[in-house]
Amino acid sequence: MERLQKIMAQAGVASRRKCEALIQAGKVQVNGETVTELGFKADPKDDITVGGKPIKHERKLYLMLNKPKGVITSASDPQGRKIVADYLKGIKERVYPVGRLDYDTEGLLLLTNDGEFANLLTHPSHHVPRTYLATVRGVPHGSKLEKLAAGIKLEDGMTAPAEVEYHDVSPDDKHATIAITIHEGRNRQVRRMFEAIGHPVSRLKRVRIGDLGLANLQRGKFRHLTPQEIKALQ
Ligand code: URA
Repeated sequence: MERLQKIMAQAGVASRRKCEALIQAGKVQVNGETVTELGFKADPKDDITVGGKPIKHERKLYLMLNKPKGVITSASDPQGRKIVADYLKGIKERVYPVGRLDYDTEGLLLLTNDGEFANLLTHPSHHVPRTYLATVRGVPHGSKLEKLAAGIKLEDGMTAPAEVEYHDVSPDDKHATIAITIHEGRNRQVRRMFEAIGHPVSRLKRVRIGDLGLANLQRGKFRHLTPQEIKALQ
């Protein structure tokens, strides 16, 4: 059982506030009875109507996309660049990215139409770790990586402790790939952290969010999360 306004908001009727107003205005019926009380709890499977029209029970979708580089994480782009929705063939529901990846960053992006799930995952207090593979110019010395791990000063303040390790070093020492796990999500954070130690990022890929890994999902492809994966992220 859930509060009526929550069920309505999840079905896309309106914001929770507006749904409360609709209930108070006597516009909402549950199994044929008008409900005006805000604390009323209903079963999402109940027959709920607003202004006489049944609400749509939108199915909840939880997707992961391996976002290619050069794709924008937003619902539309005035400049006509590719957007993530272009990769969700066959998905008719409107889903929203959970957080964002830069235009030039590739890898694991979650998309959902469950606003509460998205809020939870992006809320700073939830601290879901995110792991990136950053290919950088040159090979950073171990002491520099220790600095990154301990916390480094950026223009918007010190970064929280991170886990950092070498993933790969090119034979000619021209670049290295570092696995970095951060517990916060500031704008362009990983790029700015490596810039701050003098090793700019040339390629950035997110490979993990919490326990959820990108595994072998091909670039530009998406899949539905399993119920266990959804639960593990909450
Ligand atoms: N850090 C970045 O710099 N870019 C991203 O897209 C994500 C994390």
